[in-house]
Amino acid sequence: MSNFDYDLLVIGAGSGGVRAARMAAGFGARVAIAEDRYMGGTCVNVGCVPKKLYVYAAQYGKGFGDAQGFGWDSTQPRFDWSTLRDNKKDEISRLNVIYRNLLKGANAQVIDGRAVIVGPHTVSVGEQQYTAEKILIATGGWPHIPDFPGSEYVVSSNEIFDLDVFPQNLVIVGGGYIAVEFAGIFNGLGAKTTQLYRGPLFLRGFDADIRAHAAQEIAKSGVDLRFDVNVQSITSDGTSLRVRLTDDSELEADAVLYATGRKANLAGLGLENVNIRLSQQGAIEVDEEFCTSEPTIFALGDVTGGIELTPVALAQGMAFARRNFGGLDQQVDYDFIPTAVFCQPTIGTVGFTEEEARARFGDIRLFKSSFRPMKHTLSGSDEKAFMKIIVDAKTDRVVGVHMMGPDAGEILQGIAVAMRAGATKALFDTTIGIHPTTAEELVTMREPWTES
Ligand code: FAD
Ligand code: NDP
Repeated sequence: MSNFDYDLLVIGAGSGGVRAARMAAGFGARVAIAEDRYMGGTCVNVGCVPKKLYVYAAQYGKGFGDAQGFGWDSTQPRFDWSTLRDNKKDEISRLNVIYRNLLKGANAQVIDGRAVIVGPHTVSVGEQQYTAEKILIATGGWPHIPDFPGSEYVVSSNEIFDLDVFPQNLVIVGGGYIAVEFAGIFNGLGAKTTQLYRGPLFLRGFDADIRAHAAQEIAKSGVDLRFDVNVQSITSDGTSLRVRLTDDSELEADAVLYATGRKANLAGLGLENVNIRLSQQGAIEVDEEFCTSEPTIFALGDVTGGIELTPVALAQGMAFARRNFGGLDQQVDYDFIPTAVFCQPTIGTVGFTEEEARARFGDIRLFKSSFRPMKHTLSGSDEKAFMKIIVDAKTDRVVGVHMMGPDAGEILQGIAVAMRAGATKALFDTTIGIHPTTAEELVTMREPWTES
């Protein structure tokens, strides 16, 4: 046993930190974990979980309208923001307790408070100092809001969940996951929602067809989607906000949500006391084993600026614990990570975009389908689903699947397993579909798509 207080001291009880702490303790290590804000981190408190609950709430808005074509009289449903917000708060409080108990049950000591690194083996929390053979930084990310006149009036994803008053008139700035998801949420809940993106087409990094289809469907759903525009300034008259745009037009808003990316959460962490290298973007640089340039200090999850998804932070936490405390040498496999954007309908994606696949494989075959899901034959909705399969022509291997449609996230989880197993298009074609579903289209697209 070492002379340190702990074998491992984790800073941050979010997705990655909790998983690493629990697993390391399970391997018999003496573990402590410091958390200053909320057990479970971003995902549980101001991320995936409350977001998905609000997505469910938003889907009812459209569902009431859709139900009429099926014979239901759903006139005048009324939405109450405080019920949703407060029920969400109760659920998150329940999860906070579960996370604390999971750590307790694993024999990891929870230290409540803000941790400051004071040396390669030493961390202080309040007046107390703790030593550990290894320190793991898992402090996640924090919303980044650019500086501009009136930036003090905007809210980030941290605050939007708990607004006192429902914003009847909401402006959202950004074109990534968070902006797109919250535009869907607030539009679905009945707010007049305007989304502004600074470039010609949002969701940069996603497949071009998905981006175009998403723009079409999201605009159809009622979001006032504006591209090639940004905010110049915001002023307040005490009751509402006036948002001046770069095209010199103005918008009035009850609230402005900035979803303009996140940065590594390193403020006040004491990095000046150790030798930890940061990337140009200000994230902690680590090697494949999550080691920083300070050999006793490790980092993983969003604070390292990689793929900012909960399942990635979890996988990294597990790999870190196995390697350092379980005697198992297992690296995280980053191939074919599936992901979903929970807009309406949902985007699901796994593998290469068309552009990436062309650059990597040269000769590719494309299969595309756009159709009206069966539900909407009676609902009267003109919502359309879109699916795209990208195949490496040389090997017939499916290297990209992208869709926007009902339950895309649920559907693509299974597709990701098939793709990781090396599934070919021939295998997709000989797989019998589940009828009648939207997903069956993925095994019935026969004719390669050709430019007309
Ligand atoms: P975090 O979960 O951010 O945890 C870091 C913890 O460290 C926090 O609890 C923080 O309080 C604590 N901390 C920081 N500094 C200190 C300190 N000095 N001392 C003590 N404690 C400290 N991902 C998905 O996969 N699916 C989704 O649907 C999804 N939706 C999202 C929606 C939103 C609005 C946001 C913002 C993110 C979403 N994400 C989603 C991303 C996901 O939440 C993150 O990738 C994930 O939480 C990263 O985990 P982490 O362990 O790196 O950090
Ligand atoms: P993203 O990086 O995804 O998007 C940021 C957006 O803001 C981009 O459209 C970017 O434009 C724009 N932007 C950046 N700076 C400015 C500026 N100064 N003025 C105007 N626009 C600007 O970040 P998010 O905040 O949306 O989300 C952070 C991460 O959290 C995501 O990348 C994702 O990994 C994770 N997440 C995952 C979810 C999921 O799995 N469903 C849901 C929510 C978050 P440009 O494209 O031009 O750079």
